Amino acid sequence: MSHTVLVVNDKTLQKMKNHYGVPASLPAGAVFAGKVDGCSVTGYRSGKVLFQGKNAAVESAKWDGQAAVSKPKKASVPSENLPEGFSAMSVIGSDEVGTGDYFGPITVVAAYVEKNRIPDLKALGVRDSKDMKDPEIISVAKDLLKIIPYSLLILRNEKYNDLQESGMSQGKIKAILHNQALAKLHGKIAPDKPEAVLIDQFAEKSIYYRHLKEQKRVIQENVFFSTKGESVHLAVAAASILARYAFLKEMDQLSEKAGFTVPKGAGPAVDKAAARLIRTYSESILRHFTKLHFANTEKAKKIVHGFS
Ligand code: MN
Repeated sequence: MSHTVLVVNDKTLQKMKNHYGVPASLPAGAVFAGKVDGCSVTGYRSGKVLFQGKNAAVESAKWDGQAAVSKPKKASVPSENLPEGFSAMSVIGSDEVGTGDYFGPITVVAAYVEKNRIPDLKALGVRDSKDMKDPEIISVAKDLLKIIPYSLLILRNEKYNDLQESGMSQGKIKAILHNQALAKLHGKIAPDKPEAVLIDQFAEKSIYYRHLKEQKRVIQENVFFSTKGESVHLAVAAASILARYAFLKEMDQLSEKAGFTVPKGAGPAVDKAAARLIRTYSESILRHFTKLHFANTEKAKKIVHGFS
């Protein structure tokens, strides 16, 4: 049985408790426990949250990437050894946004930061986007767009739902998007070449390449993987900022179409917003706005139809 562990702060633990509920009896040390489709979730006083079952990765991904979440100290995915002086090298970094959000697309960006641009990027305020609020991300992104080569891919909801329903895992979808963004950017900067490529790690290396078996071109030369890639090289931080900026713009467009602000994440606010869309339009509209396979779809339907 597959499992995933997240370590979260008190605020997120409380949010998760509200989300998953508290059963009549709890394991020792636990503060909440709940079941969703294909996954049982148990949260402990220590901040550790255990996801078990075939949908453990999908369910935990909904909480991963939220500002309040911290990864366990010992990352479940090991980072490989990077060359010495890596942070000062000319690097293409890639990162994605939106995988844990019920509403909105997945955006993936590959960004090229040449070593002589590193001081400029630092001066611009480029750093780990998890420490930045949206308005700052937007303003830094607007400057970044003008000064570094990048490539952006947006996988909108209909297409995502098609792929997901065809049996493709979110991990494979992400791998394909990263590889495509990297290939596009290599083309853009040619004949220049980066000294290395750093992918913000979401899967083990062997699994990443297995996902890419059917791809025509696989970027493999000098490719490294690291969790918390933003703190390893500014190229990943830049990619992350641009991916979030693109995601925010897409969310603005979706909000305009919906007629109200569509919320981020995958918590109760999201269920209510989806219910509002069903009431205003119809259930089928969710395909255009959301990642349908998330448990939020069923929760929204329950809100509308008034039973649980
Ligand atoms: Mn990432």
